[in-house]
Amino acid sequence: MGPLLSVSELKKRYEVKKSLFSRDREIIRAVDSVSFDLKYGSTMGIVGESGSGKSTLARCILFLEKPDSGRVFFKDEDLMDVKKNELRSLRRDMQIIFQDPYSSLNPRKKVYETLSEPLLFHRIVGRDSVRERVIEILMDVGLNEDFIEKYPHEMSGGQRQRVAIGRALTTNPSLIVADEPVSSLDVSIQAQIVNLFLDIKEKTGISMLFVSHDLNIVRFISDDIMVMYKGMVVETGSKQEVFYNPLHPYTQMLIDSIKGDFFKKEVDYNTDISQGCPYFPRCSIRNDRCKKDTPVLIGDKDHKVLCFRYAN
Ligand code: ADP
Ligand code: MG
Repeated sequence: MGPLLSVSELKKRYEVKKSLFSRDREIIRAVDSVSFDLKYGSTMGIVGESGSGKSTLARCILFLEKPDSGRVFFKDEDLMDVKKNELRSLRRDMQIIFQDPYSSLNPRKKVYETLSEPLLFHRIVGRDSVRERVIEILMDVGLNEDFIEKYPHEMSGGQRQRVAIGRALTTNPSLIVADEPVSSLDVSIQAQIVNLFLDIKEKTGISMLFVSHDLNIVRFISDDIMVMYKGMVVETGSKQEVFYNPLHPYTQMLIDSIKGDFFKKEVDYNTDISQGCPYFPRCSIRNDRCKKDTPVLIGDKDHKVLCFRYAN
């Protein structure tokens, strides 16, 4: 059996004004030739500071946004070739969970409607058993029947995210893409929600792409880790390899600073990176070659790195 998801050379650029009053435009390479496979039943953590292209990659994979080029295969189907109506049915099988459950849940809908509508719409259960199924889903996400009548504003952030996770589970998807699903929550709640993801993963064998700027969170949930920097994958491999044997200086910095707040910084795109290594401006081990030539990912299936230091 092949991988559940196979992403190949995915690219997405944005053209933006250099500043508010400027006519000059610049190209931002939000996702710059990203390739990876996601195995059935496994979780890939995608980590990188704000602006590194994680959300753009997630949106392009789900075709919520059209990539400029590249390919996405989901269950061996090329999403570029899939017609609009087929894409809709594929979407059932790939669900997304966003950072802020308050804006992703409809404020005028009670939990019951939020969870029962997709069940009925996709004919996953009949009318006579929908309530029962809604209660089961609530239990699966650590809530209970009492929440059925609640509106989003009547719940805490953690409870709302549990409902959003429950909604993603209604269609029994093969893939969940969670984009910073705990970043808007209090630190004390974050661990509970990460544990819920772990629980769901164990119980259902679902595959996940788990996006976070926080390596400390990513490492709990992931089987494999992909580190992004300026739209490129700078290191990827098994959690064991990437976390305990980091090769790229950026990954090493992320691990060193797990307790600091290095991540809050926006990436500086003003540096011209049309040539050379994307990490050149910040790298402590750079040399002349890194400025001229662009590295490619090298390594084996357990561990790859984008750095000349490891090239022959
Ligand atoms: P992350 O999720 O890692 O924080 P994003 O994917 O949101 O990163 O953004 C990657 C880069 O692309 C950033 O420089 C961001 O400003 C830019 N970007 C994202 N979406 C758009 C858009 N719709 N228009 C213009 N630039 C965008
Ligand atoms: Mg993001």
